[in-house]
Amino acid sequence: MAPRLAIKVDVDTLEGFCKGVPALMEVLEAHAVKASFFLALGPDNSGRAIFRIFRQRGFLEKMWRTRGPALYGFKTMCYGTLLPGPKIGAAAPHLAPQLAAAGHEVGLHGYDHVRWHDHLCHLPWEKVAQEIDRAQETYTALMGKPAYSFAAPGWQCSWSSRTILAARNFLYASDTRGAAPYFPVFGDTVTKVLEIPTTLPTLDELLGFHSCRPQDFTSLVLSRLEGGLPQVLTIHAEMEGGPFLGEFARLLSCCRERRVEFFRLEDWARELLREPAGLPVAQVNLQRLPGRAGRVSCQGPQGARP
Ligand SMILES: [Zn+2]
Repeated sequence: MAPRLAIKVDVDTLEGFCKGVPALMEVLEAHAVKASFFLALGPDNSGRAIFRIFRQRGFLEKMWRTRGPALYGFKTMCYGTLLPGPKIGAAAPHLAPQLAAAGHEVGLHGYDHVRWHDHLCHLPWEKVAQEIDRAQETYTALMGKPAYSFAAPGWQCSWSSRTILAARNFLYASDTRGAAPYFPVFGDTVTKVLEIPTTLPTLDELLGFHSCRPQDFTSLVLSRLEGGLPQVLTIHAEMEGGPFLGEFARLLSCCRERRVEFFRLEDWARELLREPAGLPVAQVNLQRLPGRAGRVSCQGPQGARP
């Protein structure tokens, strides 16, 4: 069977939306690849992420290695601190409909990315609901219909976020890191929204290691595709749509040579949900990943259906 790969594009910032997304659309079109885009649509408060330096082990080193300041630009680093955070979705209202018209999936990547990423586990239920609802309202205003897929900023999810997604009738989410699709369990409760995890490491994680080059990342992705299981790769509009666009194009070319089949997450979700009883359930645990600062939500060991 041909190797299968989904490209999940997280769009975190205004710069990533306005510049990274059009650049990625061009490269994807040139390789005839349809991807799944997830947009953070609220204020770009990236400057506040700087304060992670003081709170999170490894953030300063990571910013340095991945050329954070060069990647994001000085202005982006000031959003939400010295400058007010501009609203991402409203800044280029034509872009999300353009993505959909080009055949890409367009889902939500939260409203205020920094707030979700840094504070989800401390946010009360109504604030989590507010983040999801504001993102959905902005999306609906742009697209004329609501989104049915959600990818949590920074791979942070909780029992409350998953329960709210279920109450809002989301088809599936891609909130965690793991091996294969499952229904997340928190305590004894199986949540109702299908989870399709990111299965591969990200470019910024690999560049967090000494002497790792972007081409090493391409080789890693290609080797993982040989395993035969469908893979989900998360890329960032700010990285692969910015200074690493050339290497991303090379990855797509190499995949085409190897006859890799690309698929959109929503199509896979619909296919899987035809027989939901056959899908596994698994706990969600917060874990550290090599090359990433802080902890992220990860697929735990498979459990039995209660
Ligand atoms: Zn993100």
